[in-house]
Amino acid sequence: MSDAPRDRFLASMGAWHAVQPWARVSPRTLSIASVAAVGPLQIALRSRFESRGIRYQLRAAKTRTLEHVAGPDPWATALRLPSDARVGHEVTQALSIDEVPMDCGMCSAQGDLSCTRCGGTGSVGSGKRRDRCPTCRGAGRVRCDQCTGSGGVLGKPSVWARMDEHEALRTLGTDALPLEVVFDLSEHPSPGELLHRQAADQIHDVRGDAGYRGEPILTEDVRTAAEALLRDPGVAVGARVHHQELTVTRTTVLEATLTNGVALYAWGDDPVRVHPKPAATTMLGKLFFFLAR
Ligand SMILES: [Zn+2]
Ligand SMILES: [Zn+2]
Repeated sequence: MSDAPRDRFLASMGAWHAVQPWARVSPRTLSIASVAAVGPLQIALRSRFESRGIRYQLRAAKTRTLEHVAGPDPWATALRLPSDARVGHEVTQALSIDEVPMDCGMCSAQGDLSCTRCGGTGSVGSGKRRDRCPTCRGAGRVRCDQCTGSGGVLGKPSVWARMDEHEALRTLGTDALPLEVVFDLSEHPSPGELLHRQAADQIHDVRGDAGYRGEPILTEDVRTAAEALLRDPGVAVGARVHHQELTVTRTTVLEATLTNGVALYAWGDDPVRVHPKPAATTMLGKLFFFLAR
């Protein structure tokens, strides 16, 4: 069988050797005792969500307004992202409301800033020769350009909306794997065999117990991990979810044990389908030799 773990491992090793010619180990020289597929389960929740905020175009105010004035609510406008907006798509709209008085952020509402020329000391030069700083005329502070000294600014508001995406991951069953593999799998979704997929505008609970080769996929462990992801999907506070997809994948991790006891691991993209790309952009860069002892 061409997709047996041993053949897949040798294929990935051969391709890895081809793009990493400095590698000293040629797969043909390996004395492999056994190869096993040891890929753990990866539970991923991908959320596409809309973030919104207010951006202000600032100008100096004549005086600083002491009471706090709340800015507009970005969700209370007619602004809409197009229904087919891709991740990163952003729209903005100027709001026809009064300018919002705010403290000047440049000078923390002080109206002046420490002089950068003299470092706030009021004098320049070194040793005995010290002269009055020409920039601040010895005062050590200079007027803030943003608020022209008042400490206050007026912000003309516009609302922005942007489509974002986040993928939250949990990896189960990694106890027997080297830490490097575990870290990589916990940070990146890894291809493998898709066991369960569930999609909705927003997923509220885990559905479906479809068996897989006679084994239930949504075991208690998987369900608990999936529910934890749904509670904390990594979506920014105040954002609105547009679409979510939950997947459970058995990742491709192959463990080869050599006759001398050394274990080697190959994981990442399907090791059988390897394209001769630069190593850094393929799974082959992830092929990792782990000395078991
Ligand atoms: Zn100065
Ligand atoms: Zn200022």
